[in-house]
Amino acid sequence: MVKNYLKLQFYSLPCNQAFARDAVAAFCVDLNPSLSVLSDIKTAVSEAVTNCTVHAYRDAPGMITVECEIEDASLHIKVSDTGRGIDDVEKAVQPFFTTLPDDERSGMGFTIMQTFMDEFKVDSVRGEGTVVYMTKQLNPEVENVR
Ligand code: ATP
Ligand code: MG
Repeated sequence: MVKNYLKLQFYSLPCNQAFARDAVAAFCVDLNPSLSVLSDIKTAVSEAVTNCTVHAYRDAPGMITVECEIEDASLHIKVSDTGRGIDDVEKAVQPFFTTLPDDERSGMGFTIMQTFMDEFKVDSVRGEGTVVYMTKQLNPEVENVR
């Protein structure tokens, strides 16, 4: 059963990146995640939202939606845009792959999300947009004891 749900919609302006990251952290703080788990979540959300800003809506700002669900001790996060989409998702998630090397992008955003979160998936359709799904166990120590 879903215990709690949050939906944020905001414009893809760089100033909203910190807001989104901190809002997600505040949403799950009630479940007493460790500081390291919170930091992983904030980093992953930042990377996903930054991608919407710099890639999805490269030409003009657009709407970003961040949805969070707490289910048992898991936090499910969905970050969606309706921007340009990704041609080849399998290629895009490889470490160091970037389509903007001239902008000093290192191509590590998806790798960071994958490494810092417990589950990670990307769906994208060219010209329609991208959805990133991520899950993090909020309290793995407690879960293991049970
Ligand atoms: P870094 O995150 O290290 O600054 P990056 O953003 O290029 O660099 P990733 O976050 O791993 O690296 O993304 C890889 C590539 O996937 C991007 O270069 C871009 O082509 C594509 N991409 C990622 N997110 C989106 C998105 N929301 N919409 C369109 N394309 C995207
Ligand atoms: Mg990135």
